[in-house]
Amino acid sequence: MAPRNCALCKVSRAILKRPKTGQQICKECFFHVFETEVHNTITEANLFKLGDRVAIGASGGKDSTVLAYVMKTLNERYSYGLNLFLLSIDEGITGYRDDSLETVKRNQEQYKMPLKILSYDELYGWTMDAIVAQIGTKNNCTFCGVFRRQALDRGAVMLEVDHIVTGHNADDIAETVLMNIMRGDIARLGRCTSICTQGEDTIKRSKPFKYAYEKEIVMYAYFKKLDYFSTECIYSPEAYRGHARVFLKDLEAARPSTIIDIIHSGEAFEVKEEVKAVQKAQQTCRRCGYMSSNDLCKACTLLEGLERGAAAIAVTDKARRKLVTMEGGTIDTMRTIPYFQLPSHKAGVNSSGLASSSS
Ligand code: SF4
Ligand code: ZN
Repeated sequence: MAPRNCALCKVSRAILKRPKTGQQICKECFFHVFETEVHNTITEANLFKLGDRVAIGASGGKDSTVLAYVMKTLNERYSYGLNLFLLSIDEGITGYRDDSLETVKRNQEQYKMPLKILSYDELYGWTMDAIVAQIGTKNNCTFCGVFRRQALDRGAVMLEVDHIVTGHNADDIAETVLMNIMRGDIARLGRCTSICTQGEDTIKRSKPFKYAYEKEIVMYAYFKKLDYFSTECIYSPEAYRGHARVFLKDLEAARPSTIIDIIHSGEAFEVKEEVKAVQKAQQTCRRCGYMSSNDLCKACTLLEGLERGAAAIAVTDKARRKLVTMEGGTIDTMRTIPYFQLPSHKAGVNSSGLASSSS
């Protein structure tokens, strides 16, 4: 078959088939359409304003690495006027997160963005390794998800940013729509497709890759030769989400627009008034001060469960010392964090709260 010319510029040789549209295009046109679509998503949703301080939730994986690169590119190309930071959470997963954080440290140098790393160990006194040792690998992702959400908020307060952007892509969102339908979780279904979420006390969060296909993100990273970490977490991902993922990939193979169509369907769901009425009013957690709809926030509820379990199985001295640190004595109150008490910083994080670039 004779080589085709690019369907967009009509000049260069087409070297790839675009997963989202099936068009045969050249590399340069692929970069351009991918970046322009993200720019359009950002401007149509009015995500940023001039001078915003924005933290990119960075795991070292493909999504957040491409996000950091594209945010930097668009910020320069379209003069968004943003101050960009990398914010990483160390869950304490030996052999996985420690390696991926090395990637983020290199990205910090490559993209010239300040980096802040916060660990579950310093925030909660527990690593995911310790949690899995105690509870096994059945509900570990529930713990990890709740802890990560709070950890990102705390990191954002430390960096004094207005906004956190995450690398959630179109496939992730379509999967979540399917999961919420399968579980009958109407309240979540009504809000899971929002590009931007912001509660009263919470920091604004958004997903500039809401309409970006996972396959295109991988392709972009590959052709741009970006430095990212591609190993999966050693604590197997949620089984239920796995079913939704496999189902979605099958549907995508039959009809690529399925992913966007599911997102559009999700966007059409509205939360009915009766459902809204049962959502509880916000208050603050009596243990840590984080916003919560109950006496204890979700993280503290989980922590109390872990601590009870730890006490029951006679915790090691090391773990006991950490619990004492979490609950009393040596906790420093961070000046920039009115509603949190955090354990004092670890070595490697300087007084500005940013990890030193030499580390
Ligand atoms: Fe955490 Fe689960 Fe993701 Fe591993 S797979 S990082 S345990 S949420
Ligand atoms: Zn709490």
